[in-house]
Amino acid sequence: MRASITRLAWVMPEGTYHKALKAKAEVIEGNINDLLWDLAIYKYALQRCIDALWELDRIPKKSQAHQLFYSVLRSYGFRAHVARNIYSIALALVKSAKENGGRKPVIKKMCARLDYQDGRVDLGNEVVRVILRNKWYSLKLVHRKEYIERFRGLRWKEVHVKYGNGKLYVSIVFEVRYAPYTPRGSLAFDVNLRHIAVYDGSNVRRYGTRFIDALSKRARAEELQRKHPKRWRCNRRILNRIRSLHRKAKNLVVDWCRKFAKELVLKTKKHGYAIVLEDLEYLRENVVKKEDKIVWKLSIFAYRKLQEAVISKVIEYNVPVVFVNPRRTSSTCPRCGAKLSYVYRLAICRSCRFIVDRDTVGAMNIWIRFIYAHAGELGSPLSAPVMKDEARRNGRIQG
Ligand SMILES: [Zn+2]
Repeated sequence: MRASITRLAWVMPEGTYHKALKAKAEVIEGNINDLLWDLAIYKYALQRCIDALWELDRIPKKSQAHQLFYSVLRSYGFRAHVARNIYSIALALVKSAKENGGRKPVIKKMCARLDYQDGRVDLGNEVVRVILRNKWYSLKLVHRKEYIERFRGLRWKEVHVKYGNGKLYVSIVFEVRYAPYTPRGSLAFDVNLRHIAVYDGSNVRRYGTRFIDALSKRARAEELQRKHPKRWRCNRRILNRIRSLHRKAKNLVVDWCRKFAKELVLKTKKHGYAIVLEDLEYLRENVVKKEDKIVWKLSIFAYRKLQEAVISKVIEYNVPVVFVNPRRTSSTCPRCGAKLSYVYRLAICRSCRFIVDRDTVGAMNIWIRFIYAHAGELGSPLSAPVMKDEARRNGRIQG
């Protein structure tokens, strides 16, 4: 789903997407220690396969991997289908590491992936049953009932059982069909820490965020670290205080993003519009320019969470989404394409005398890029942008 560098805008394609239910779990049938032992053997077995594959000059085919590993894995007690899964995962991990010129993958977490042959999902009773070797375990999901209800009726694909920090977790991957409608218009939004500006082609509306509250909590945590530079790591009380501040900041952001995303997506659907988002992949290049690291870190975190929340809601409600490259969205005049000058937060175009505040400029430019996207048809991936950046900057199209 990644956009290429030259693209100004791209449409999130129709298709099948994955959505995961994540919850803490308790073993209600079977022994937790037996389960942890099964998970540990799974981890070692997976690593063994990876080690062996890594030594080979050529990555074998799946049938060859079967020859290599199947009977060994069966001898560790794994079910036939679990054994197949283990070498398939190892194969995929080694392949992607070698292709990307990475190092040999090292499995650190105790995590097993199971599919329909080795798992049962019963959302009505909030229970998942899994088997790795010779014992079935029933795991009760510990989460709010409304959260689990949201996944009722969806087709599940995989169950992941994970153990870390003394806790057992289950995530169930569901398949969701995403078929966006053809939009009648679009809503573009520009996000900053204080508020979100939403532009619909003629008017701007602002919504206050809670990111600043989260920022102040994070700032307080960092202040505590600075105040007790040596002590904070080993002093329980200070450490707990710092952790709690970070947790609160995170929850503030995540909760607010979910709430806002739902509101926004429902409203967009009501009007039959599309949502236009900045593609966050492009934001990274700004990192070095930012002096205030803590603000930057929180911004990235908040934007990412907001985007995740919007995407998850958009899939649920079949609302179309267009991603745009945010490059120069706050420095280009949306009217004539010249470079803007700033007086505090006020953007001024010396060329066409357009005057507007910074957030509105961002939202307007993002909205304009949506129009470029629709030079192609919605639902099909977009190709090259209609205009080149240089042409826009000069305010005319060069031949
Ligand atoms: Zn202008």
